[in-house]
Amino acid sequence: MDSSDHFPSPDALSSFWMPFTPNRAFKSGRHKLLVEADGMYYRSHDGREILDSTAGLWCSNAGHNRPKITAAIQKQAAVLDFAPTFNIAHPLAFEFTHKLSHILPYDLKKVFLTNSGSEAADTALKIALAYHRMRGNGAKTRLIGRERAYHGTGFGGISVGGIVKNRMHFGTLLTGVDHLPHTHLPQNVFSKGEPEHGADLADALERLVTLHDASTIAAVIVEPVAGSTGVLIPPKGYLKRLREICDKHDILLIFDEVITGFGRLGTPFAADYFDVRPDLICMAKGITNATVPMGAVGVSNRIYDTFMQASETPIELFHGYTYSGHPLACAAGIATLETYEEEGLFARAAEISPYWQDAVHSLRDAKHVIDIRNLGLIAGIELTPREGAPTARALEVFDRCFEAGLLIRVTGDIIAMSPPLIIEKAHIDCIVETLRRVLDQTA
Ligand code: PMP
Repeated sequence: MDSSDHFPSPDALSSFWMPFTPNRAFKSGRHKLLVEADGMYYRSHDGREILDSTAGLWCSNAGHNRPKITAAIQKQAAVLDFAPTFNIAHPLAFEFTHKLSHILPYDLKKVFLTNSGSEAADTALKIALAYHRMRGNGAKTRLIGRERAYHGTGFGGISVGGIVKNRMHFGTLLTGVDHLPHTHLPQNVFSKGEPEHGADLADALERLVTLHDASTIAAVIVEPVAGSTGVLIPPKGYLKRLREICDKHDILLIFDEVITGFGRLGTPFAADYFDVRPDLICMAKGITNATVPMGAVGVSNRIYDTFMQASETPIELFHGYTYSGHPLACAAGIATLETYEEEGLFARAAEISPYWQDAVHSLRDAKHVIDIRNLGLIAGIELTPREGAPTARALEVFDRCFEAGLLIRVTGDIIAMSPPLIIEKAHIDCIVETLRRVLDQTA
C-alpha cells in the first residue's frame, strides 16, 4: 500500500484536537499513524509492523481484529443498530450483563452500563452517594481518592483522581474530597510483584475518619494497580487493610478496574487476585476488547437491593446515558467474553506472567533504568529524568521504539506496558531486546 494513501492532508491535520497530546508538536513533527491491526501487531501508515506491548491503551486484551468479535459487531449493526434502554430495552443488554455477572467477583452481580471508564468512575461515585442517602445516611457525602490516581476525566473522576495536571485548570471541582497517599515507596525499588513495604499506608484512612468522622464519609476509590501514573503496585496487605477500615466505618470501597479487569492479572478481576471484596467495580476497555466504546459498574446485590427497596420514587436512580447498553457494544461484549472463555485467556495471562516478570527485570542493568515493577501482564520501567527536561527521555524512547517497530506507552519518565493476553514468549523476548537496544541508543 502506498503510504500517502493514509496520510492526512495538511488541511485535515488542523481539525482533530488530540486528547492528552502536545498537538502543536505532533502536527509539526513526524506523525505516527496506525492504519491496520491484527493479533499482537499494528501496521503503521508507512507499512511497518509494530509490535503492540500496550494492548492499544490497556484495552485490546484478546489482541486485535479478532474475527469472532468483528463478525458479532457487523451482524448486530445489520439487525438492530440502536435501541434505547430508558423504559424499554433490547435482549442483548440483559444477555450481556447476565454473562458478565458470571465472571464478576463476590456478590457484585448487578451491572450499570456506561460508555467509558470515566463515566464508570463517575457513575460509581454517584451510586455510592445515593446508596448512603437511601439508607438515611445523607450526611455521608465525602469521597476519598489517592495521590497519583487516575479515574478518567469527568468532574467526579478528576476530583478523586490525584494527578495535578489533570485538575489544575478546572476550578474547584467536587468539594469534600481527600486523597490518601500513593503507595510508591523508594524502599520497594525493583520489587517483583507485590512490594513488601507499605501496607500501613492504608492507615491514613483511619486518620481521615478521625478528622472528618465516619458519619460524613461515603466511599474510597482506588485502582488496585495504578496504571496511568506509571504502574504502582499495591504493597502486600494494603488493599485488605483498606477493606477492613472501610468495613469498620461503613465506607464503601470502589475498585476502579478499568485496566486491571478482564484478565490483566491472570484472574477475571484484581479483586479476585488480591482476594479483596469491593462494593463497586468500574470497568471499561477490555469489556469489549476495545472494539466498541463501553464501560460498566459492577454493583453488589446489597447495594442494588437497597435501591430497589428504599427508593421513594418509581425511578430508583436518576442517572444513565443514551448509549447505556448500546446494541453494538453488547454484541461486542458477548463475543469478547466468549473469546476470553473459549481461549482461556485469563489463565494464559497467569501462566506467562512469570516469564514476563523475569524478562522485564532483565532490563535492570539497562541504561537509564532506575526502577522496574510488574504484576500480571503489567510492567513499569522508570528512567532517570533528563536534567531540566522531565519526560523528554521517555518520549525519546517512545519515538525510537516506534521507529524500531515497538509500541510502548510512556507516562512521565516511566515506560508502561500491558500487552494483549495472547502474547507469546517470542514477543516478550522481542520487546525486551528492542527496549535494551533503544535505551542504549538514547541520550
Ligand atoms: N480509570 C482508570 C483506572 C483508567 O486507567 C482509565 C483510562 N486509562 C479510566 C478510568 C478512564 O477511562 P476512559 O478513558 O475510557 O474514560
